[in-house]
Amino acid sequence: EAKREGGAALRFFDRAMQTQVIERAHLEADLERALDADQLRLFYQPQGDAAGVTVGLEALLRWEHPVRGMVSPGVFIPLAEEGGRIVAIGNWVLEQACHQLAHWADQPARCELTISVNVSPVQFREAGFVDGVREILAATGADPRRLVLEVTESLFLQDPKLARETMLALSALGVRFALDDFGTGYSSLSYLKRLPLDELKIDQSFVRDLLASPADAAIVETIIALADRLSLSVTAEGVETEAQAAWLRDHGCRHFQGYLFARPAPLVSGKEPLPGLPS
Ligand code: C2E
Ligand code: MG
Ligand code: MG
Ligand code: MG
Repeated sequence: EAKREGGAALRFFDRAMQTQVIERAHLEADLERALDADQLRLFYQPQGDAAGVTVGLEALLRWEHPVRGMVSPGVFIPLAEEGGRIVAIGNWVLEQACHQLAHWADQPARCELTISVNVSPVQFREAGFVDGVREILAATGADPRRLVLEVTESLFLQDPKLARETMLALSALGVRFALDDFGTGYSSLSYLKRLPLDELKIDQSFVRDLLASPADAAIVETIIALADRLSLSVTAEGVETEAQAAWLRDHGCRHFQGYLFARPAPLVSGKEPLPGLPS
């Protein structure tokens, strides 16, 4: 009896797995074409200072699938990483972001904005990555100091030496680095002194329960203090309420990103209103 049930459960499991595998294969095949078929969109989420003025934007990728609608990067980035597609996609994102920077360069209200671009470890470890960034900067005329590359702690786990060399080469170009989702990875704090970092981004999981959870509050306070002592700027991610923003401001956080300040949105003309900036 038990054996029969087990058999049935196994068959069910098999079928569910099979469906998942097929779904995934379809999505992967669609993703191969997404770039050429012009289905990728770059959204931008403003980052504000304590006075509510936009100081930068994070570029966030969207896939407008012809049948499924908007597919989240949480779904397709891992697929793109596995299939190697992330390299071409990542270059496209960098190009778009650098074009936008160059476009703003002669607008007095916007010429100091930074754009942060998420970089996958797979893309980062590609042999041609530094040259690719250099070429994109040259081709677009973007100021390298306005480009912030967001990396995660996972980058330092596999080949820390290569990661460090790549970061040093890019920072020699003037490019800056933010450590994304800080506090959620497994890397050691010693990276903070060995790598050319400019910014820590407090992961939204700590910000979410800040006011209810003393442990989260303690972690956030510690990250802010650590950033301060290391002369790194610190950005809180996922700020959704005025109460969270007030707490963060009171505890010395100077930069904010989250739905409270602004949602990610496309930039069509580049003249879209941004919080705290004249249009
Ligand atoms: P991330 O870099 O940590 O980006 C922040 C995520 O939080 C974004 O999700 C953003 O839309 C979301 N978010 C912003 N404010 C709030 C808020 O107040 N509340 C909540 N609940 N969420 C908020 P998104 O756009 O879905 O991106 C997810 C992740 O996908 C990113 O996390 C990043 O790791 C990755 N990603 C996005 N674009 C790219 C890209 O161009 N290249 C690579 N390699 N990864 C990307
Ligand atoms: Mg990010
Ligand atoms: Mg993040
Ligand atoms: Mg993330």
